[in-house]
Amino acid sequence: MKIIKTNDMASDYSAYVNKAKVGCNICPCCGESREFHLENGKFVGIDDGIYRSEAKGFFNIKVYYTTIYSCNTCGSQWESEPYLSEGDYNADKKKKKRWF
Ligand SMILES: [Zn+2]
Repeated sequence: MKIIKTNDMASDYSAYVNKAKVGCNICPCCGESREFHLENGKFVGIDDGIYRSEAKGFFNIKVYYTTIYSCNTCGSQWESEPYLSEGDYNADKKKKKRWF
């Protein structure tokens, strides 16, 4: 048996992702902070269902994600800082441990 992800690793990664998303749950244009929902027949609140991924690097390709948020109350959109995929984040961390 080989453990590929420990409890520690999972909570460490989610802390890393949360850091990339700091401030994203409030609309920068109208200040909306409620979750996406239906109100009086109209969609309002913040929706973070979309994300895009991109591969960066040449010899050592890593996958980054960016979460895209939209405010259904005023129609604006914004995105998080790019963050590494879980696999690449853990691989990076292992590499760093080996050297330091
Ligand atoms: Zn808004």
